[in-house]
Amino acid sequence: MSKTSTDPAHSSAVLRRHALSGPAMGSRWSALFHAGGDVEEGALIRHLQGAVDRVEQQMSSWLPDSDLERLNSAPSGVWVKIPRELTQVLAASLEIGRLSEGAFDIGVGDLVKAWGFGGGSRVPDGGGIAALAGRSFFEPPKTLQLDHMGQRVRRLAPRRLDLSGIAKGFGVDELARAMTEAGLSSWLVGIDGEMRAEGTKPDGRPWTVAHERPDAGEREILGVLELSGAAVATSGSYRHQIEVGGRMLSHTMDPFRGAPLENDLAAVTVLAETCMAADAWATALLVRGAKDGPALARRLGLSVLFVRSDGEVEATWP
Ligand code: ADP
Ligand code: MG
Repeated sequence: MSKTSTDPAHSSAVLRRHALSGPAMGSRWSALFHAGGDVEEGALIRHLQGAVDRVEQQMSSWLPDSDLERLNSAPSGVWVKIPRELTQVLAASLEIGRLSEGAFDIGVGDLVKAWGFGGGSRVPDGGGIAALAGRSFFEPPKTLQLDHMGQRVRRLAPRRLDLSGIAKGFGVDELARAMTEAGLSSWLVGIDGEMRAEGTKPDGRPWTVAHERPDAGEREILGVLELSGAAVATSGSYRHQIEVGGRMLSHTMDPFRGAPLENDLAAVTVLAETCMAADAWATALLVRGAKDGPALARRLGLSVLFVRSDGEVEATWP
């Protein structure tokens, strides 16, 4: 960002640090910035909260009256009118599903339910798993049809859609948009560790985000990522696990096997322009594994840090 900016955050000699936060998608959102003049924190918090609440109301699997759940309960074949943002996230999901060759699959909703994420953890019976495995949802037009002009969508197969692998990242992008709308040009925003930054800190240096070593127990720093005009998201089998019958199960689904993911990667961190892309690609590349993941990331020119289960680290900065 240019130093000649007329941004109020950089125009005064005395800068105050503002750290705002609020509830978001079962976690918290946060926003950090410095400003010289008077900042009406209350109004800004309401503006940012409104931005994340809108995303949740559209894309949550937990709110029975979200637009996504409305779509999930509509019979297949029936067009459902949806808001612009949801159309955008569905389109991006299908695109990343295609590019990841089905590793990112928003049709995992039935699998997520069958394995009991969202309550009542269990190992589904063999028949149930067989019925769900390999029924990849990502190949439109067989499964999902988007009408961009008419802002409507219809499912062509009775599969439950799940946007939890991308909605949080999109929520961060909406926070970013709200900060820009509020006239701020240097900030760090995030939801539950997924971050996006613009501009610099008052000293002119980029914002920094700690990168943790993937370990469910300890919180050790692996390195520090510098962020400016970019977003970062991490997916790891070490996070968000549930215990079923003495086994720890990942909440990331392997759509090819129809079961919680088990592979040789501990974590995947993706740097991208938008947090939506970083979020979805982190999940997609985690599913692809330690061999396929880096190869695909290089082919697509994605900036990714892979941490294998044995601790080895591989980066694919283009
Ligand atoms: P992480 O922080 O590990 O990336 P996210 O919250 O971003 O986790 O995404 C995990 C959620 O995404 C799961 O709870 C599930 O709802 C959904 N999901 C699981 N597996 C997949 C997959 N292969 N493709 C797309 N979404 C998935
Ligand atoms: Mg994700």
